Amino acid sequence: MIVPRAAILSIGDELVLGTTLDTNGRTVSEALREAGLDVVEHRTVRDDRAAIAAAMRDLAASCDVLVSTGGLGPTDDDLTRDALNDLCDGGAPMVEDPQSRADLEAWFAGRGRAMAAINLRQAMRPRGARAIRNPGGTAPGLAATIGACRAWCLPGPPREMVPMFESDVLPAARPAGAPALAKCTVGTYGMGESSLAQRLGARMARDREPAVGTTASGSVVSIQVVARGPDAPRRAAEEAQACASIAAPYAFGTDGASLASALLDECRARRRTVTVAESCTGGLIGGMLTAVAGSSDCFPGGWITYSNALKTSEVGVAPEVLARHGAVSAETVAAMAAGACARAGATLGIAVSGIAGPGGAVEGKPVGTVWIAVHDASTGETRARRFEFPGPRDVVRDRAAKAALQLARWTLRGEDAPLIWERA
Ligand code: AMP
Ligand code: MG
Repeated sequence: MIVPRAAILSIGDELVLGTTLDTNGRTVSEALREAGLDVVEHRTVRDDRAAIAAAMRDLAASCDVLVSTGGLGPTDDDLTRDALNDLCDGGAPMVEDPQSRADLEAWFAGRGRAMAAINLRQAMRPRGARAIRNPGGTAPGLAATIGACRAWCLPGPPREMVPMFESDVLPAARPAGAPALAKCTVGTYGMGESSLAQRLGARMARDREPAVGTTASGSVVSIQVVARGPDAPRRAAEEAQACASIAAPYAFGTDGASLASALLDECRARRRTVTVAESCTGGLIGGMLTAVAGSSDCFPGGWITYSNALKTSEVGVAPEVLARHGAVSAETVAAMAAGACARAGATLGIAVSGIAGPGGAVEGKPVGTVWIAVHDASTGETRARRFEFPGPRDVVRDRAAKAALQLARWTLRGEDAPLIWERA
């Protein structure tokens, strides 16, 4: 089978100047590769008609598929349409596309807004090109051939680009008979990438099928499973399940799961509710929980108790406990977790107090020292654990919030293990 060659052209001053990161290049590249194409080049050019046309001509000469994004807006710096027209039609007058015009009029009418005259530019297309409808915005895409290369021009905003790419480009660009490829990701939290690799052992051998690899992002270490060929989705899912068992209890879920969604799933399955009293994480845990749609089922709310006074007045930490042990202590977080649980009427309470830095270190409590407690109202038990999270302030806070979610998840599941940052 001949593997088609593909190139990606990202268009926009902001991309070349570095003010906007080219995420479209990555999205399109990854999807084309998964569909079985050979992506051979990414190029980024400014909003310059001649530069866009030259890049298109050049890439089209060496590729079978070209996908460009950006430059399809209504303003004078949006020149992709003209550049394509220069290439395909020698700069002959473009024609108005009736469907595009109707879509534009409907877009503005549906929002009760008058359409600016310049928006009509977006209904124009080279005579030899086909317009691609854009359900998420005003800029239609364009499909054309440049020599022997099939080219697609899509708008820049990822929210508009992705659905158009998936519905129009991907099915047409996918080579017939390409071996199916399926991916499955398992998220783990709290163990190092090298210990995870050690546990996975021979499963990570380079020539193995399905292929298993690991990547780390935001302190979450993910296991990436890629299966090819017949039955790929089933084999990828089975391999991911096997890897998740090996990585237990650190593995918290597959594909779209976050630590927060995993905890909420456990709560829902057990008819439990969870609340938080946060000091150094300042609402991050509540933020992560409420980022999950439907979290109100299990999360009634919680507290940011940053000062000692609020730790006492809001979640009932006795002033003597604070005076005797300090705000960053097992006793304080335990009282915060139990107090929050009782006051919220929840059955699980999470509390965090620590020194996120860069200042605030004291003897025996370096920057990064964080105490996390989980109170289980169904047993009346509270467990507090001490961590030393490395990194700058934002990393310490993020790691602490995620560690708290993992500990709460383990409490519900009756699981336990040390987290790498744990210090007795
Ligand atoms: P445009 O279609 O050129 O008007 O692009 C509009 C907006 O889409 C830009 O201001 C960017 O915010 C975004 N955008 C354009 N190209 C990209 C890209 N390659 N990756 C991510 N965002 C992009
Ligand atoms: Mg632009």
